[in-house]
Amino acid sequence: MSRILVIGCGGVAQVAIQKACQNDEVFTELMIASRTLSKCDELKEKIEKSGSRTKVTTAKVDADNTEELVKLIRSYQPEAVLNVALPYQDLTIMDACLETGVHYIDTANYEPEDTEDPTWRPIYEKRCKEKGFSAYFDYSWQWAYEERFKKAGLTALLGTGFDPGVTSVFAAYAKKHYFDTIDTIDILDCNGGDHGYAFATNFNPEINLREVSAPGSYMENGKWIEIPAMSIHREYDFEGVGKKDMYLLHHEEIEALGRNMPEVKRIRFFMTFGQSYLDHMRCLEDVGMLSTEPVNFNGTEIVPIQFLKALLPDPASLGPRTKGKTNIGCIFTGKKDGKERSIYIYNVCDHQECYREVGSQAISYTTGVPAMIGTMLVANGQWKKPGVFTTDEFDPDPYMEALNKWGLPWKVVENPTLVD
Ligand code: NDP
Repeated sequence: MSRILVIGCGGVAQVAIQKACQNDEVFTELMIASRTLSKCDELKEKIEKSGSRTKVTTAKVDADNTEELVKLIRSYQPEAVLNVALPYQDLTIMDACLETGVHYIDTANYEPEDTEDPTWRPIYEKRCKEKGFSAYFDYSWQWAYEERFKKAGLTALLGTGFDPGVTSVFAAYAKKHYFDTIDTIDILDCNGGDHGYAFATNFNPEINLREVSAPGSYMENGKWIEIPAMSIHREYDFEGVGKKDMYLLHHEEIEALGRNMPEVKRIRFFMTFGQSYLDHMRCLEDVGMLSTEPVNFNGTEIVPIQFLKALLPDPASLGPRTKGKTNIGCIFTGKKDGKERSIYIYNVCDHQECYREVGSQAISYTTGVPAMIGTMLVANGQWKKPGVFTTDEFDPDPYMEALNKWGLPWKVVENPTLVD
């Protein structure tokens, strides 16, 4: 019996909310609050038609404004807030949760909207030098809330999407049931979906293209190693998808796993990209279309990447067109009872099945389901402890069980093909 406030009503939120309302024995009351109220109302109507017993209400909120959030939380009095807005709002929402005594859950770590912000930039530059990776997002901002959440007796669960989220639960599960020591972790994110367009992005083009064109990095013996974008490439044969090219990227769970499992010697993250996507991206980058600097065109100032966004298909419109599967998981190597061991834990998800169930493609589905599961485990007390945590810091078993139950079944394969 839980009353939950969900902030955001985009791709991931739509799935997390619909799954929470399927799970109406746990989520008895739920408020959807976002910037555009009409989206929240439309979703409420869809849920009411589905026969869910969850009592849904809606509100408009600007999640950049802590005072507005505090007011909303005080009036609704939820037990927990699920933040599925954008990473830009993580800190304002955590502040509001602390002020009102409510648990906090999200799916992505903090990153500022304005990377030239003079209160943020020098701290970022210092971190780049000290830690050795240059991504705009990192955990330091949210880990800094540890003492305050602990003191308030509140839980902050960070990054309960698929990657990060499920991938870190897979690591905790491997450690608990399969290994005495883990030596290496390779996280493989494969999207074998085809939307029929020569070029489109599965989520916000600006964020997507910024992530993909940034330097990659991985952790070896506790140290970050940064490499030029797309410079480490491998081919892998994925169940349900087939052979795909994948590239090493920086990703946020490497940072948390590196801290929480320091015995692991190497942690890497790979994502698949088709040749057409990469050719288009390189070409757009070469001609300046990915630039965020405004240019003057016939007397009008335009930002190239924003203009590009207007030309590209809306990611939300890809759902009905996308066919194929995703395959996301982790390969672990290490030792058990003195012997070498390797396992692969992964989930295969079908874009069209997701669309039939909740009206979204698999990228939103594989994030929204774990967001609901993390919220459920905090709300029902199984993952409730004071402080700020990532998903590898709890007992993985109830989470793994819930993945099977709520639409993301997983498999463990012994002796998989390793990535060299
Ligand atoms: P969308 O852009 O589809 O949705 C974001 C939602 O947040 C929109 O409804 C938007 O409102 C709302 N919003 C934005 N700013 C504010 C604000 N200031 N106040 C209130 N509401 C606001 O994003 P996604 O659903 O694709 O992603 C949601 C989160 O999930 C992101 O943090 C993303 O990084 C994360 N993610 C995590 C993954 C994982 O595996 N861990 C994978 C994919 C995403 P409006 O409707 O008005 O635009």
